[in-house]
Order: sequence, then structure tokens, then C-alpha cells
Amino acid sequence: MATSGRGTGTVGYNVQTAVDSQHHLIVAHEVTNVGHDRGQLFNMAKQAREATGIKELKVVADRGYFKGEEILACHKEGITTYLPKPMTSPNQAKGFFPRDAFRYFPESNEYSCPAGQLLIWRYETIEKGMKLHTYWSSACASCAMKEKCTTGKQRRIRRWEHEDVLESAQSRLDWNPEVMRLRRQTVEHPFGTLKAWMGATHFATKRFRNVGTEMSLHVLAYNLKRVIKILGVNEIMRATRA
Ligand code: SF4
Repeated sequence: MATSGRGTGTVGYNVQTAVDSQHHLIVAHEVTNVGHDRGQLFNMAKQAREATGIKELKVVADRGYFKGEEILACHKEGITTYLPKPMTSPNQAKGFFPRDAFRYFPESNEYSCPAGQLLIWRYETIEKGMKLHTYWSSACASCAMKEKCTTGKQRRIRRWEHEDVLESAQSRLDWNPEVMRLRRQTVEHPFGTLKAWMGATHFATKRFRNVGTEMSLHVLAYNLKRVIKILGVNEIMRATRA
């Protein structure tokens, strides 16, 4: 599996799981050999919805899953997402005002900046299939705060045409920060349990397909034990016979 470092890799797989927060059952899982989670949000959310039959599904994920197109795909399917943005603002790293310091006004399609100036719409471009709008202010050249803002002629802000969907996801999280704790204690718990059962070792099989099967057996065992705990053996036997 390729990892984030260029030319590096690890002998292993990336196991995706979706766990329901009420019963702590693994409702969907998938073994991938992609070393990051960015393209998995919609895939896993869709599988979780199919498995649970819940129409108005709420999904919580960590920032590794943050990708505009994935959040938009969930939104279009009526799946409500909660996930934080990655903390990778190149401007902030350089000591410039972060992007969040610029406020968007949908009515006028403008941004305001920390100096109180308005950044107006200038043009749109298509990049990697995404329509992006660009804004800047004409006041940058004479701004006393410019050195905290940009080294260019003006500070430019770019906005994806579906940015409002990402802003809604962010504001849901701002209003419900406790969901991230719920995420940790829900989805990480089965991994800990499975690792404890497996012991300090690797998958017993090799190759993608075999590891997928091995993982499915682990998940089946986990879910069976959970269901026995929730319903009891007698109820399961009764339900199996019915
Ligand atoms: S440099 Fe431009 S965008 Fe930045 S604070 Fe000044 S006026 Fe606003």
C-alpha cells in the first residue's frame, strides 16, 4: 500500500469500517490498498445506509476523510456529514491570515477581509473538474495589514461553486462538537477489540482478495458476539428459526 511519503509504501492494507453508534455493530467494512481515506466517505456512507436501511443517515468521520466532492456526493444523497477540515492552510503556515478570517456574504457574493475591505468576484475557472470563483479587493496595495495577508499584489480567495455545502458541514460540527468524541469511542473501539483478538500479529493471509475475506470473517465474529450480547442466545435462536 502506498503511503503519503513519495515512493514509500507499507506492507499492509487500509481497513475501512462504519460502526453504528447505538449498537456498536460494524455495519459496513472494506479492505483497500489506498494509503489514505480521502476518497472513502461517500462509499462507506452509502454502504452503511444500504446495510442499516436508515434513510436520513448522519455520518461522522475524521479530517482524513475531508474531500469536497465526497461531502457533496453525500449531501446529494441526503446523507448528513460531520467532519472537520484538515489543518493544512499554507497561508496560515506562512503566518498570514487564515482563510477562515475572510467572511463570505452570499447575498452580495463578496468576502470581507480582516481589514474590513470587500473582496469582490473577479472570474471563474475550472480546475480538475471543479468550478472555482476568485475574489480580491482593490484596496490591498494600500492596506496597512498587507504584510500579514499576502506577498502578492493582492490576497485572492477562491471559492468552489459548492462551498456552501462544506460550510454547512463545518457549522454542523461547530454546533455539535461532541460528535467527534462519539466518533472516536464508536468506530475505534471495534478495531481495538479485533486487534486484541488477533494478537500482536498481521493478517494470516496474503493478497488483496484473501485479506478481504479474512477481514470479513473477523467482522462477522465481532458482530455475532455483539448481537449475542445485545439479544441473548435464546432470542437469536428464535429469530434464526423464524
Ligand atoms: S491585504 Fe487586502 S485582503 Fe488583506 S487585509 Fe489588506 S485589504 Fe484585506
